[in-house]
Amino acid sequence: MKLICIGRNYTDHINELENEKPTDPVVFLKPDTSILLKKQPFFIPDFSNDVHHEVEMLVKINKVGKHIAKKFAHKYYDDIGLGIDFTARDLQAQLKAKGLPWEKAKAFDGAAVIGEWLNKKNFDDLNNLNFSLLKNDELVQKGNTSLMLWKIDEIIEYVSKYFTLKIGDIIFTGTPAGVGKVFANDRLKGFIEDKQLFSITVK
Ligand code: MG
Repeated sequence: MKLICIGRNYTDHINELENEKPTDPVVFLKPDTSILLKKQPFFIPDFSNDVHHEVEMLVKINKVGKHIAKKFAHKYYDDIGLGIDFTARDLQAQLKAKGLPWEKAKAFDGAAVIGEWLNKKNFDDLNNLNFSLLKNDELVQKGNTSLMLWKIDEIIEYVSKYFTLKIGDIIFTGTPAGVGKVFANDRLKGFIEDKQLFSITVK
């Protein structure tokens, strides 16, 4: 399985990193080895001094598909979730400056947190969901899916032009503003509306 990640999907986050607003979705992949194992702490890798949390809504693909039209995209997932796209921001900045791929900064072991899944039937409107990240019980990121530049079904249409989607693939839909550095002993808790979907410790 693969993790398909969307970058720069919220205007407020594009502005905080002073990035250009993209004309097409920014897409990158993480390998399955980047998934943080359940109940394990996240270890800050020794090649970075500036690892950031990016809380993101997730979508789990339930059917094989290629060239999926937006109007059929809803048939390709039942579950949504919440995770963290951990990013070694210092390393990413160096790679970006040289026009190089981001994988070393985003696809390292443990860089993908995946929380519990919720059936989409629990929600009236997936394009109007609140989600948030608490760091040491303080609110650090909050987003609403209505603010995505590309909504879930548009992302599925777009990425499936390039990649065959397979059962179990997971899409990270991008982070809102409020990304920030994590430190040893931080505790990160993620919520969709008032449901807690993960709690992890940083080491
Ligand atoms: Mg991200």
